[in-house]
Amino acid sequence: MKITPIIGLEVHVELKTKSKMFCSCRADHFHVKPNTHTCPVCLGLPGALPVPNKRACEWCLKLGLALNCSINEQSFFERKNYFYPDLAKGYQITQLQKPFAINGYLNIEGHKIRINRAHMEEDTGKSIHIDGSTLLDFNRSGVPLVEIVSEPDIQSAEQAKKYLNKLQQIIRYIGISDADIEKGSMRCEPTVNVCLDDKFYTPLVEIKNVASLTGVMNAINYEIKRQIDAYQSDGITKNSSNKTTRGWDADKNQTFLQREKEGSADYRYFPEPDIPPIIFNKEQIEEIRQSFPVLPDEKIAQYKLLGLSDYDAFILADTKESAEIFDKIISIESSREFAKFSANLLTGPLKTIKIDINKINPDYFKKLFDHKLDFSSTVIKQLILDSYQTGLDPLEIAKEKNLFQVSDTNTLEQFAKEVIEANPKAVEDYHQNPLAIGFLVGQLMKVSKGSANPQTGKEILEKLLK
Ligand SMILES: [Zn+2]
Repeated sequence: MKITPIIGLEVHVELKTKSKMFCSCRADHFHVKPNTHTCPVCLGLPGALPVPNKRACEWCLKLGLALNCSINEQSFFERKNYFYPDLAKGYQITQLQKPFAINGYLNIEGHKIRINRAHMEEDTGKSIHIDGSTLLDFNRSGVPLVEIVSEPDIQSAEQAKKYLNKLQQIIRYIGISDADIEKGSMRCEPTVNVCLDDKFYTPLVEIKNVASLTGVMNAINYEIKRQIDAYQSDGITKNSSNKTTRGWDADKNQTFLQREKEGSADYRYFPEPDIPPIIFNKEQIEEIRQSFPVLPDEKIAQYKLLGLSDYDAFILADTKESAEIFDKIISIESSREFAKFSANLLTGPLKTIKIDINKINPDYFKKLFDHKLDFSSTVIKQLILDSYQTGLDPLEIAKEKNLFQVSDTNTLEQFAKEVIEANPKAVEDYHQNPLAIGFLVGQLMKVSKGSANPQTGKEILEKLLK
């Protein structure tokens, strides 16, 4: 049986604006005393009027542009009506017919995932269930949310993860949210069904309450298997676009039925009468486009042009911060050799510590680069780490610790003689097989406490052994 999973992702991202979407209450709600950031608007009291947050709308547009979307110059808000205790108004203000951004895409390793839309809406309050009762916290009510809806172009849990990683990376680059799934500032609902033998489709399922990246992958994989099993036992196939909602139980590692089929008609959407249409003209959209940093894919391409490996380019462009650090270093010299040398240090010894861009001194990288023949690669790694941590000039550290390689032939000859005398067996081996020189060079490095220049040392050994 041919199995083709069909996966779409609905992703909600909380914007890190100072104030909420439709009122001036503070938008931060993590680790805040419950119900302290509230007002008549976000508590949904009768007669309170919403005023849209300009910054949030601009950020939604910004994300749309970063996701290769077309922008609707005129868009409007709608009411999505439903009852839930944490939705005080009885409706959520969102966008259905005219969202800010439509028809975008992301490339995931050569595979194009189409993006249907990125629209603006408000978050709900939070229900907290404790000892059989439910408490409500409205600090989150009205926090700006962008919903990004992909087309069902994703074909595996692994690809879903890559899509989410890329989305996070872009969102963090443009600085509109920390997009943290574990914390809840990014939330993800996969929609899953399966096509069997290119002709039968299993019913569509939306999965809720997934609170980690691993959870997303596990939930998708569980659901694919469950749907194939269900098809094999009862043969029921999809007969409309309605979807069933299932919850994700991370402890049991399985999904469970929450709600049977519902369509958008159930929400009775209608235009929000208290907010006029929002218009962004071409100049304003262009201005937002101009405010962009270079995005990750473009950064990676730039770095590859500098001669960096795929791996180094990917690691250095991973976050805006790491790219800025690398750019700061290579601003001092434009050669490809220097770029490669610096990239190796950043993705090697410096990768293990958290780096503050203000403490990075490009001069020190340049000095080590200019003196790279004076040190072994191990010593260079240690020197860059020490100079970063102490703020001292790496050449000064090297001088103080006596780390300059000895290339002086008289001294090296002395070391070489010692080694030859102490290792008659290895000398004999060498005369049988020239490759055995490696052992003697190793001994020479040991005798010189790592200070010998290995190449010159090797040449001297060979000369003496002739
Ligand atoms: Zn408020």
